[in-house]
Amino acid sequence: MASQATPVSGSSEVKGLACVALQDWDPRAPGVQVPSGLNPTVAVRSGDYVWVYRVNNLGFGYTHVVCRGTHKRGWVPLSVLKRGVQRVDPLPIEFPSTARPINIMQSQSTSSNVLQETLRRFWSAIQNQQSAIEGSIPGLTAKAKSLLFHRSAAAYGDVVYRCILPQARDIMATGSFHPNDLRALPSVSSSYPKEPGVYIILYGDFGERRAGPRVYTVAIYVGQTVAFQKRKTSHRMRAENEDTSQHYRLAARAGETKMIPILLQGQNAVPSGFLDIAEFSFVCLFRSWFSGLFTPVDSNALGAYVTEFQACSTFSQLIDQVAANTRWAPTGIYGLNWNTPILRNVGGNRQWTCWYHEADDMFIYRTRWLARRNGKIAFFRLRGEDHIHIPDHIQEVANFQHEQPIHVVIEVRKREGEYLVHPIRYCRLPPYIGRNPELEKLRSLAIKVEWLDGGVWKHSYLNRTGIWAPSESDALLHYYRRCLFLFCDVEQITYTNAPGWLPPRSPTQVNFLRYDHLNQKHVVEVVAPRTIPWPHDRTMQQNTQRLHQMFPGPDTVIGRRPPRGFFIKARAKCDMCFSEFKDVVCKFDENDNSCEHCRPLNRPCTWSRANVEEFGQEQALEELGIAFNARAAGNVHVMPVPPFDPSIEEEEHAELEG
Ligand SMILES: [Zn+2]
Ligand SMILES: [Zn+2]
Repeated sequence: MASQATPVSGSSEVKGLACVALQDWDPRAPGVQVPSGLNPTVAVRSGDYVWVYRVNNLGFGYTHVVCRGTHKRGWVPLSVLKRGVQRVDPLPIEFPSTARPINIMQSQSTSSNVLQETLRRFWSAIQNQQSAIEGSIPGLTAKAKSLLFHRSAAAYGDVVYRCILPQARDIMATGSFHPNDLRALPSVSSSYPKEPGVYIILYGDFGERRAGPRVYTVAIYVGQTVAFQKRKTSHRMRAENEDTSQHYRLAARAGETKMIPILLQGQNAVPSGFLDIAEFSFVCLFRSWFSGLFTPVDSNALGAYVTEFQACSTFSQLIDQVAANTRWAPTGIYGLNWNTPILRNVGGNRQWTCWYHEADDMFIYRTRWLARRNGKIAFFRLRGEDHIHIPDHIQEVANFQHEQPIHVVIEVRKREGEYLVHPIRYCRLPPYIGRNPELEKLRSLAIKVEWLDGGVWKHSYLNRTGIWAPSESDALLHYYRRCLFLFCDVEQITYTNAPGWLPPRSPTQVNFLRYDHLNQKHVVEVVAPRTIPWPHDRTMQQNTQRLHQMFPGPDTVIGRRPPRGFFIKARAKCDMCFSEFKDVVCKFDENDNSCEHCRPLNRPCTWSRANVEEFGQEQALEELGIAFNARAAGNVHVMPVPPFDPSIEEEEHAELEG
């Protein structure tokens, strides 16, 4: 199934002008006149997202109309269409802060030392904008916040300035320079420098790199280290060993590479975390973020690395606004910093990035999670003791290491508010008739893990292999608890009157990519949490009635055990127990016409003349059994197309520390 966010209308081959139908128009409706010779025509409905390829001088547009999985093309009067812009592919993703710039309300600077003034104003802007920054980057850790918003952080600008090498200060003082001018400074040698500091690496003679309309021939990377010589060797080894990240692929090709210390800690009194503070300041001053971070277009990459994108968006806007006031304007060059220092190794509140994939009727949620190991057992932790177990047969193939990052994708099949059955759902219970309406919604939820394995992307849907052990009376509740944890997380639901076994909702944020058809972009919207009442459980009687409606035929008996001779091959187990593919004993009780496996779902037993395969997922009797999944059954698949540019994942692993 496709997972990249695509515009709701049409495939990527569709070109044309994005339009919206303002009213219904049907060429066959009585009274509608179509100029003769205008063929074919096509009906549109009010609100349809369409594409107009060309217009004629009769006021009609040749229009591409999508209707559920297929499309029609024909002429439509332009008077019923609202016209937008030409199709953009891929669509840019816009953070809300891009639309509402941070207002720092500062006047034009008159200082002659532009570098110093810019650093000062930048750090005081961070203090002034604390709440806006926290709102834009929910993944900020307590540690990152304690550095960024420290009570003396407004003075960081001056501390950083004092530690910049005097020669570098002179070059940058006016704010108008080319970073290549800094090549005049001494580079790292076997004896220089001896103390911790911040460096830049300038790359030249690598050909050219493009970012949007701009072409670059010089690239920059900003780093910090406590041991310059060792770090220089590490950088060189990475480039020589053909590390596949953008940074080192470029480094391997660069004819001119110079690693230049630009700031040294020296004997200065500096705040704790100073190297992070200084490195962060220079990434911002040079806007040295990796170019792809400025203009996200890939929803999968955004989902995996949302904090990196948010940090680049937030702090690049902040420095741009400060720079406009102080006239800080170094020549822009190609950036290679993937992480924003200070925010590196973020572990704050989880964020999901979500979009709707219309062709599959599916909301897709993506995040990154740490796999954990306990001996041979692999899992990822939800909260406290709650975790999702990665089935052993998947772990045998994947061999996830302890704390290895993996990508977790949740799929919720839903159309116009209706929860549809996911063919590879996590919760392997009958889809429609269960304990209560909220728990029945779990039919729509599937969990998929994706990971990079030796340059190849793989994925696997997680299915629980065991269902519940009859000996453990609350095992089903534990099962529900884990499923609901994820369901409530992605749907941002809190229940009133929730039973005690339900987990409280975790403090996550869901960023929905809303497709803006007429402006041809995705806009990031934070999903608002909802509170709804926990529903009453359905009674055994209600569920008996619902089953009768669904299975009125003579081949399924509901409730009472059928007399001998009903089954062609004698069978003592009810459908649910029979379908479990396991050595389960059906303890049918005539008092309530139910058994240990049906009773927790408030269902009577059912008895069907059928083979066990017919209870499988997407089969006719799926509603009557525990569906095994013949199709997916937790197999590991190689992804034919990587979820996003593989070098982005490499970028994350390419950062050096120490
Ligand atoms: Zn049974
Ligand atoms: Zn039963």
